Amino acid sequence: MSIKKELVQYAKHCSSSGLTSGTSGNLSVREGQVMYITPSALPYDQMEEEDILEVDLQSGEVVNGTRKPSSETPMHRFIYRKNSDIKSIVHTHSTYATIFACAHKTIPPVHYMIADIGREIPVASYATYGSEQLANNTVETLKDNKGVLLANHGLVAVGDDLKDAYRRAEVIEEVAQLAYGSYTLDSVNPLTSEDLDDALEGFKTYISG
Ligand SMILES: [Zn+2]
Repeated sequence: MSIKKELVQYAKHCSSSGLTSGTSGNLSVREGQVMYITPSALPYDQMEEEDILEVDLQSGEVVNGTRKPSSETPMHRFIYRKNSDIKSIVHTHSTYATIFACAHKTIPPVHYMIADIGREIPVASYATYGSEQLANNTVETLKDNKGVLLANHGLVAVGDDLKDAYRRAEVIEEVAQLAYGSYTLDSVNPLTSEDLDDALEGFKTYISG
């Protein structure tokens, strides 16, 4: 399947699964020195392959496409430039993850599924949406994690391909729901460091296998 076709398909998944609503959120895939990214302000159910933009990773210029690229293009670009192994990024404002982001609260490891992302989901400091400052804050906080929250904004998930990044966006939202529920029951029981080590080890095999 072509990259553009895959992006449109996953963009529609984001919308139908409730990970995004309206025109919020954006997705991209890196190929060599360019990235393919969803356009700004176009509802996912109306998106077609020709709406996907091709952006140069060095200059940030649109090299192919007629629409305006996603407002978070700098964030996607900075993440790719900093991490050569990342091939795809999914950004959403899914509700429970965004509640933690608004509360400036790290999502704790209340479920072993978090090992798909890291030991916890940290929160990058607030900066205006679309700004280079937000792009920098995101890169700094992401480090080797596969996902991060953006204060008062949403989440970012990364992966070796679009399927990976999309699954992680779902996992972050799921663990956020479970952590939210645990806080509501006033009984948050994070995994121990050893249990997390085991889960992280298991996920290496699970992902590659
Ligand atoms: Zn956003």
